[in-house]
Amino acid sequence: MSQEDWMWQMQNRITDLATLKNHITLSAEEESVFQAAQEQFSFSITPYYLSLLDPTNPTCPIRKQVLPRSSELVRAENEWEDPLAEQIHMPIKGVTHRYPDRAIWYISHICAVYCRFCTRKRKVSKPTETPNREEWREALEYFRNHTEIKEVILSGGDPLTLSDQHIDYLLGELSAIDHINHLRIHTRYPVTMPMRITDSLCGIFSKYFPLYIVTHFNHPKELTQEVKVAVTKLIQKGNVTLLNQSVLLKDVNDTVEILEELNYKLVRFGIKPYYLHQCDEVYGSSGFVVPIEDGIRLMYDIRGRMSGLTVPNYVKDLTGGGGKVLLGPNYLIEKKESSYLFKNFNGGEYEVTH
Ligand SMILES: *Cc1c(COP(=O)(O)O)cnc(C)c1O
Ligand code: SF4
Repeated sequence: MSQEDWMWQMQNRITDLATLKNHITLSAEEESVFQAAQEQFSFSITPYYLSLLDPTNPTCPIRKQVLPRSSELVRAENEWEDPLAEQIHMPIKGVTHRYPDRAIWYISHICAVYCRFCTRKRKVSKPTETPNREEWREALEYFRNHTEIKEVILSGGDPLTLSDQHIDYLLGELSAIDHINHLRIHTRYPVTMPMRITDSLCGIFSKYFPLYIVTHFNHPKELTQEVKVAVTKLIQKGNVTLLNQSVLLKDVNDTVEILEELNYKLVRFGIKPYYLHQCDEVYGSSGFVVPIEDGIRLMYDIRGRMSGLTVPNYVKDLTGGGGKVLLGPNYLIEKKESSYLFKNFNGGEYEVTH
């Protein structure tokens, strides 16, 4: 097996401090918190993603996403195990059905690389949480019986951890349900292990058009030549439509320049920026949070200078399970008798009759 093989990447993931220290120099802070942080949420990185990380500089934006820092051991008052109350909205194990027309199905709790800000770290990385065959059967039965469901989102963990054969089976069962309009997959493997995007996987995807894949790029450094090859394959062989969600992360991507470069590059690769998420209030996340008003200001600057195609929606998933809300500068200047006066994206004004 070669480094170009995703199974090699999985088998050669770095998961402990001693091995990691053979590859990079850790700061005193990183080293001192590593063990304690790993007890709360596993550490893992693929050799590929490690190669993007600056081996000596603790401020590297790739490093910040994957190496625990001391803030991760602090539990702030507003932080939760399950900030989006996904467990409560679970009619059956492994399925969250909060919006009537779509359901999320967590089909794997394994990821090749663990992001320290993960919303689902309460269960991600714990193999016992991965659904078994009986649970697959129950979930499929649930989707068949609930005719209001138009979309099933395969998520995790990373759903592309499953074998090609299992992915083919699940997509096949889902696409055979009449009321399902289209399917969606949320995966970070195009970012952390682009070699997972093989010809045979793309051959499977091409059978299930229209299939939407939402990736998770947070920084322009992640858009490498290897990624370009994988993404091109997904589009041309898999006939997939690609979208991206990013998380707004302090000292990773919280400047206009980085967001501009990231989103232009995504569009150049053929990926439409979909969401920019406000970081969820999960325990240990305080080091990543950008205040909402700073996020709104960033979006305001971006909207004024960038093609609309490159601009994601800035959203927050409400803590406690209220769902997503759009965050934006408050464009409303004045409510008149029969119209609204809005600021437009360039600082001008326009009027809308109501
Ligand atoms: C985010 C989310 C979805 C997907 O929402 P879209 O706006 O369609 O991307 C679906 N269900 C839950 C519970 C979610 O949190
Ligand atoms: S890829 Fe997604 S599910 Fe996996 S650790 Fe990162 S944020 Fe969590």
